[in-house]
Amino acid sequence: MIASILLLPGDGIGPEVVAAAADVLRAVEARFGHSFTITTAPIGAAALRLGLAPLPPETLEAARTADGILLGAVGDPEFDRGDASRRPESALLEIRRALQLYANLRPARVWPGLENAGPLKAEVLAGTDLLVVRELTGGLYYGEPRGFAADGQSAHNTMRYSRAEIERISRRAFDAARTRRQHVTSVDKANVLETSRLWRQVVIEVSRDYPDVRLDHMYVDACAMKVALAPSSFDVILTENLFGDILSDEAGAIVGSLGLLPSASLGDGPGLFEPVHGSAPDIAGHNVANPIGAIASAAMLLRHALALTTEADAIDLAIEEALRKGLRTRDLAATGDSAAGTREMAAAIAAALTPPSHSSPGSVADPRRSRA
Ligand code: NAD
Repeated sequence: MIASILLLPGDGIGPEVVAAAADVLRAVEARFGHSFTITTAPIGAAALRLGLAPLPPETLEAARTADGILLGAVGDPEFDRGDASRRPESALLEIRRALQLYANLRPARVWPGLENAGPLKAEVLAGTDLLVVRELTGGLYYGEPRGFAADGQSAHNTMRYSRAEIERISRRAFDAARTRRQHVTSVDKANVLETSRLWRQVVIEVSRDYPDVRLDHMYVDACAMKVALAPSSFDVILTENLFGDILSDEAGAIVGSLGLLPSASLGDGPGLFEPVHGSAPDIAGHNVANPIGAIASAAMLLRHALALTTEADAIDLAIEEALRKGLRTRDLAATGDSAAGTREMAAAIAAALTPPSHSSPGSVADPRRSRA
């Protein structure tokens, strides 16, 4: 396959983890005989330092024409006190809005060997492999009217959803469930909120097109509890913007380090793939950042933007292999143990993708089911 991939390394550890992911994409290219045109553009503080806007028009144009976009992170303490439109983080909201990325996918799984990395008991965490599908461009975060009363004594926000918004995110969740364990849990607060009652109604209507997918409903408070008590009982969690913001962080937290978590933001054009973590200025430039979140985001790019399921599975397996060999970046290493650097971890994952010289390209592809 010929495909164009745009890298937006950004700030802090962004360039380090994106370089790691690019090495892995090159290994995929070599192993499976693809041809990726990989280009890079500035975003965030990196763009501000060049005298450009946080999201330069040229970067946005390159994003619009790419098949998939891999972003590192944006944010730099040097620009924290600037005016809001000149803050590096404004680029994120702008690119999500410009590309109309309405679906946010955040998988949370336990990697083999990391059962004790999170706060839960290993036996509670065992088998956890869930995907939060969060509506990203509607609900309380965008609803109008919003604001403070003139006297500053009260404030208000508006939670609003249309049938069309609920339907398109529901289809994303059901489609994803079809590539996994065919189970969607729709999360709402239908006992209190009208938007949730409409949500539930539309999700049920959409589910009729997916008779092979099991659907159940859960109130958000009960779901938050169950994610902590029985995370392995979930496959796909479908929910609106605010609930998804909170539940996806909770799900991420229980499986261990922030550095492990990938994400995808999808619309009807090119998708944006990025690790969940920020620019981590406290560790930037020291070759200690965990690149797995970025590398797993590259796998999501292959899966969702390029429909290269076997290749995406191969990256996930290569990550497993590196971890199984005992490689741990500093965030995962036990106190006193030596830790692998960012580059070392990336090299091990890329090496696991490179077939022994006697096998033909793709011959060690894994037949395992695809994971969305
Ligand atoms: P952060 O995610 O950057 O860091 C939180 C903690 O996790 C830090 O101790 C950091 O060292 C650690 N950490 C993060 N990623 C890691 C990795 N890959 N490997 C090992 N350790 C890792 O969050 P923060 O400190 O709140 O924010 C720092 C900057 O990042 C701010 O400017 C913030 O606005 C920005 N930010 C950007 C994004 C994004 O680009 N999507 C997301 C969150 C925060």
